Amino acid sequence: MTGRNLLAARAAAAFERLYGEAPAGRWAAPGRVNLIGEHTDYNDGFVLPFALPQRTVVAATPVDAPLWTVWSEQAGEQITFDGTDAGKPGQVTGWGGYVAGVVWALLDAGHQVPGARLTVVSDVPPGAGLSSSAALEAAVLTALADLGRIDLPVDDRPALAQRAENVYAGMPCGIMDQAASIRCRAGHALFLDCRSLALEHIPFDAAGAGLAVLVIDSRAPHRHVTGEYAARRAACESAARALGVPALRDVTTDGLPVALARLDDDVVRRRVRHVVTENQRVLETVALLRAGDVPAIGPLMTASHASMRDDFEITVPEVDTAVEAALSAGAYGARMTGGGFGGCVLALVDADRVDAVADAVTAAYADRGFTPPVWFSAAPSAGAAALP
Ligand code: ADP
Ligand code: MG
Repeated sequence: MTGRNLLAARAAAAFERLYGEAPAGRWAAPGRVNLIGEHTDYNDGFVLPFALPQRTVVAATPVDAPLWTVWSEQAGEQITFDGTDAGKPGQVTGWGGYVAGVVWALLDAGHQVPGARLTVVSDVPPGAGLSSSAALEAAVLTALADLGRIDLPVDDRPALAQRAENVYAGMPCGIMDQAASIRCRAGHALFLDCRSLALEHIPFDAAGAGLAVLVIDSRAPHRHVTGEYAARRAACESAARALGVPALRDVTTDGLPVALARLDDDVVRRRVRHVVTENQRVLETVALLRAGDVPAIGPLMTASHASMRDDFEITVPEVDTAVEAALSAGAYGARMTGGGFGGCVLALVDADRVDAVADAVTAAYADRGFTPPVWFSAAPSAGAAALP
């Protein structure tokens, strides 16, 4: 049995132990990483996530009353909530809020939602920037939609899961995480236009090119993330206002020199340069992947990192060290992924160099006295689905 099947078996075994019967079904939804396109989402720009092999599995059975009983292996507890709780955003707090949020968002959209018993098991590391929260929402949403035979087109699902997180759980986040967890396809990255919400599956067959994507959790302690995020966002919005455009998406690379000349604050100028060049790097990455030239995206990844480090100033010594060590050990490209101030680093490496590059990063960490990194290599995987 593979690790993935084990996860599904664990969800079903827990279900039988807790509820004394086999579940009606099992559903899985993955975590994600963003290949390139950072801090572009709220500027109406482009992102390019792919789904991880790590997934959250939900086993579930409908019940006749508007009552939800949910056990999570990771949380180590069982919670219950009813229709009244699910009707009031914020009523269920903690991890259960993500589950109640999905019920709320479905009800709020006018759907009949079946009560249910659920168990949740996951191998998506929580809080590492790999979007375990969206994996949980997507798995629960897919399960409830199937159990209730809810007519909910897959196109509409990411926004619904996002509302669960934004409105019910009270976490402001863009739509990328939910779109990736629900819509990604194996062997592909998901090219998402955050303005139109148009999406396209872009072939990303790293393994076919003899390559692997190494995901390195920097283990950096999160520092001031919320305040820094708000400051970056405010700088981008004020720059767009000063330039008279709806969003920085509307500044092209050709128009960048003129735009920069119109801004008088050097920090804001650098923030704008990051967003505009990052959008362009996403477009160039998509073009290279469409042409099947996977190794050629490496320099774009590395340029993205330099832009986040020097212009957007959202990296920390741990992630800079991981990127430098990976590049020195022969990676085609490497960059921090996620909102910044920690989180994970991606490195594009020859498949037979995964261990060597990971060892080089571990050694560089040891030299600087950082908490040892953890890493895995990730093939672009499938989005949310029922399990056989
Ligand atoms: P990320 O989504 O990057 O992993 P978040 O802070 O957005 O980080 O979400 C992590 C939170 O999501 C956890 O603290 C927990 O509340 C919830 N969560 C994710 N996966 C599970 C799970 N399997 N069981 C219970 N709660 C989970
Ligand atoms: Mg999250």
